[in-house]
Amino acid sequence: AGGVVLEGITKRYSGQVAVDALSLDIRPGEFLSLLGPSGCGKTTTLRMIAGFEHPDAGDIRISGRSVLGQPPFKRNVNTVFQAYALFPHMTVAQNVAYGLQQRRVGKAEIRERVGAALGMVQMRSFADRKPTEMSGGQQQRVALARALVNRPSVLLLDEPLGALDRQLREEMQLELKLIQAQLGITFVFVTHDQGEALSMSDRIAVMRAGRIEQLADSDTIYSAPASAYVAAFVGQQNFFDGTVTADGSGVESAHTMVRPATRITQVAPGVDARAAVRPEFVQISTERPDSDVNVAQGRIIGVSHLGETMQFLVQFGSDMSIIARRPTPDAPRVSIGDTVWCSWRAESVQVFPID
Ligand code: ADP
Ligand code: MG
Repeated sequence: AGGVVLEGITKRYSGQVAVDALSLDIRPGEFLSLLGPSGCGKTTTLRMIAGFEHPDAGDIRISGRSVLGQPPFKRNVNTVFQAYALFPHMTVAQNVAYGLQQRRVGKAEIRERVGAALGMVQMRSFADRKPTEMSGGQQQRVALARALVNRPSVLLLDEPLGALDRQLREEMQLELKLIQAQLGITFVFVTHDQGEALSMSDRIAVMRAGRIEQLADSDTIYSAPASAYVAAFVGQQNFFDGTVTADGSGVESAHTMVRPATRITQVAPGVDARAAVRPEFVQISTERPDSDVNVAQGRIIGVSHLGETMQFLVQFGSDMSIIARRPTPDAPRVSIGDTVWCSWRAESVQVFPID
């Protein structure tokens, strides 16, 4: 496996910055995801690693060597796109063999490597089919086999599961992760789906406007987001905007005092801040809790069954609502219109500057 080092790479399109002095050190054999909303520069970053685009500034090193100036086929990198781009008139085996034939690999070796690559994605029995005779998920497996057959040291994947329906996508997530672990290839995986990034990645680089906002493992990204942007993009959040108290102990919002477990140091007293509490940390009760911080009284305006969890929407005053999510077996028996108390532990409160 090869490591990929991006050193201050910048890409502009007609003056507009798509990737902004981005630096990232991807470890050999790592599953790294680039996560962010549409337009934040994920694809452009991937295309520069692949060699389809050239940075205006900065350096790219693969396995320790600068690849600037090297064409894509010399980089020992392969890309899998969302659109599978298989040749429709060729069989599965011919599609997978194509690149090897171009490189004049011997017939016997091609047969063996195509068989092995199709085996990895469990498509051996489809070798003689045409792409048009297969489902989207099967076509995407073939596209993956076609990339793996070249034995790249780095595989770049640009929203490869984006076109699949949810159940198939979740199956493929597990399989991709398994294949990556077995082969030990470095995966750089682009997605705008936070659940997908959280479930598959060794580390996630959360991108914003061409830069990396936070680089960390899934646990850290979820439980200790570096900014309100990351907190909002990964998982659901309830935000309470307010002002940090003079003693730095809490954020005074219109509906309640929100108090974290430790003194607020990231925002000065008297300055506006955003406190965040995830829905799974919000308790709902019909009796008033005996605390007057981290508590808010409201009215149930929505109840949704999500299978394993139940979700409650609680409105305070006229302009604010928060979401509470409870495991279905422990969910409170409340309905729309009920007056309830929401509460949460100080340990679940995070405070961010407003940006
Ligand atoms: P993402 O993959 O995160 O959705 P992209 O890397 O595709 O984002 O795009 C980043 C920014 O660069 C966007 O503003 C997009 O419009 C712009 N962009 C990307 N490719 C081109 C191009 N070929 N020509 C002009 N602008 C582009
Ligand atoms: Mg993209």
